[in-house]
Amino acid sequence: MLADRPVTALRGVGPALAEALARLGLQTVQDVLFHLPLRYEDRTRVVPIGGLRHGDRAVIEGEIQLAEVVFRRRRTLLVRLADGTGFVTLRFFHFSAAQQAQLARGLRLRCFGEVRMGPGGLEIVHPEYRRVTPGADAEAGGDTLTPIYPTTEGVQQGRLRALTDLALGLLSQGAIVDYVPGGILDTFELPTLEAAVRYVHRPPPDANVAQLAEGRHPAQRRLAFEELLAHQLSLRLLREAADHDRAWDLPRRTDLIERCLARLSFDLTAAQLRVWNEIERDLARPHPMMRLVQGDVGSGKTVVAALAALRAVDHGAQAAVMAPTELLAEQHARVFSSWLDPLGVRVALLTGRQPGKARAVLEGDLATGAIQVAVGTHALFQEGVAFDRLALVIVDEQHRFGVHQRLQLREKGMAEGRYPHQLVMTATPIPRTLAMTAYADLDVSIIDELPPGRTPIKTVVLPDARRSEIVERIDSACRAGRQAYWVCPLIEESDLVQYEAAEKTAAQLAEALPHVRIGLVHGRMPGRQKDAMMTAFKQGKLDLLVATTVIEVGVDVPNASLMVIENSERMGLAQLHQLRGRVGRGSVESTCVLLYQAPLTPIARERLAVLRETGDGFEVARRDLELRGPGELLGTRQTGLMQLRVADLTRDADLLPDVQRAAALMLDGPRSNIAGLVGRWLAAGERFRNA
Ligand code: ADP
Ligand code: MG
Repeated sequence: MLADRPVTALRGVGPALAEALARLGLQTVQDVLFHLPLRYEDRTRVVPIGGLRHGDRAVIEGEIQLAEVVFRRRRTLLVRLADGTGFVTLRFFHFSAAQQAQLARGLRLRCFGEVRMGPGGLEIVHPEYRRVTPGADAEAGGDTLTPIYPTTEGVQQGRLRALTDLALGLLSQGAIVDYVPGGILDTFELPTLEAAVRYVHRPPPDANVAQLAEGRHPAQRRLAFEELLAHQLSLRLLREAADHDRAWDLPRRTDLIERCLARLSFDLTAAQLRVWNEIERDLARPHPMMRLVQGDVGSGKTVVAALAALRAVDHGAQAAVMAPTELLAEQHARVFSSWLDPLGVRVALLTGRQPGKARAVLEGDLATGAIQVAVGTHALFQEGVAFDRLALVIVDEQHRFGVHQRLQLREKGMAEGRYPHQLVMTATPIPRTLAMTAYADLDVSIIDELPPGRTPIKTVVLPDARRSEIVERIDSACRAGRQAYWVCPLIEESDLVQYEAAEKTAAQLAEALPHVRIGLVHGRMPGRQKDAMMTAFKQGKLDLLVATTVIEVGVDVPNASLMVIENSERMGLAQLHQLRGRVGRGSVESTCVLLYQAPLTPIARERLAVLRETGDGFEVARRDLELRGPGELLGTRQTGLMQLRVADLTRDADLLPDVQRAAALMLDGPRSNIAGLVGRWLAAGERFRNA
């Protein structure tokens, strides 16, 4: 059984490499076989440079026309390569003298890399390259699609290819267990596990390239099915356990909630009331609530959460509110205090950054129950933090917390044989089938109505050619004392390239807008620095915030009334909608400008039009689904909602009903295959211990 053979059984794998492989979760030969390619590269053809487009990954060949080292922010080697159909710039940030000497004018190179739009036209950052002699044959070499594996430090791509070769050599019939019931495979005409594994690692020369690239080959579908099934089973087991667990039952006790409601400056919307009623019913039961509240940005989820927290307080118990960032935690702490302090309820903020002494005092008060509602980041559940009687955990912006975190919470919160109730809140609207998959352990409530009196956000869609008009618009908005965001979305795989794009944009804007105070936040910044920048923006010390898509979900800067999003045609509608929700929080009419690189495909045009036409997140999600099939709705890979390796919740949405049926069958059956299946697909931390 390959599941029992350690990676060190493979030739050339010593302790050091085994350790590096362990970081990828690869401990056995079977693990290596289930470490699947992220994608494939078609390096079988050399393509004309003139036909390159932004985002292509391609092999090209041409002659070096110019090679120069420039000193901008950093030393950069620029090489201009031409093939008669066009030219492209090769950009090197790191290079040796030898390399520089090699890249001399007049030489021919064959390169591979990802093409992007740079300052002087198309370019490739750090291409793979080699010198070729003129007239070498046009075959780029390699007769299959090249699999690209997820890697980590100390394990190169080439090494993984060699290891999978060895592992595939050991793969014989029965060497890996097929846990999916045969009846299910027959029904859906799925290939055997062995065949599927072989195929995805080493697609044959005649493979259907397009199908593989889309992840829709039957071999991939078979593996996706199995992976989704494993996740579904683990979530269903988690829920099953929760339904038997004990929790503090929290029925209505005093008029605390009525008093809170009476003090609010607004009435709950009908949707908020309905959702609160659902929560109230759950809390009254002696088993832990496992409920997700979905509601568009601004729909008023926070107040509902506050009511739930009060119900815990009403029983002398505690509630913990967990936010994904320090900044959001601070914001929640302020809001909760403003509502709960007047009722004599003690709310406290607990973050990872409080100095030791202050923190020790807070921890003491938490342990005695003097603090009734604790607001914080995951620091709330660190080692050493103890509650007196934690009856409810509220998690905001759920998509940053995967199953793994939910499991941890459950275990951390357990005391006196009782588990805390869980309330998770998300602004990501997702259709029902997907919700039933990603949240199979949760009940779902939806706040499908915005509070009255909001000024709708005006959305305009403009080609990048009209950028200068937008820059002027920023100027006048900032002169009028308002603030703006400029978002450079993730269009590159590399963090570095991404960061450089944002940096460049910030520099250009600074040049064009000398009076405007500009800040920059990006994914490479340490969290502390990022929050400091966001805080400066929130406090009005900056007028314009240039950001990669890291803009914190849920951050409230009412004075920000203009949002510019570049390359919007490359982003998911849901994400655009979320970003847009950063403005429109004050009384001034807000505008969201969606810039795109012309020309737009008809579909892209229609997608962007959806945002112009509706401000309703659920409607956006619905239209997105209609237009693209289930594309991009979740952006699951980025958000970590589910850590999936082959499956894609959106692309493989049509498998989901069958996956649910298969899961039900396996749960009704002898259950003997479940542990093996879950163990094979889920990261160690996500494996439910009872599986
Ligand atoms: P989200 O669902 O995005 O977390 P919030 O809970 O932050 O939204 O609410 C957005 C704003 O709307 C807050 O300022 C909140 O006080 C306010 N709000 C919430 N419910 C209502 C309501 N029923 N009527 C008017 N304003 C409300
Ligand atoms: Mg919120």
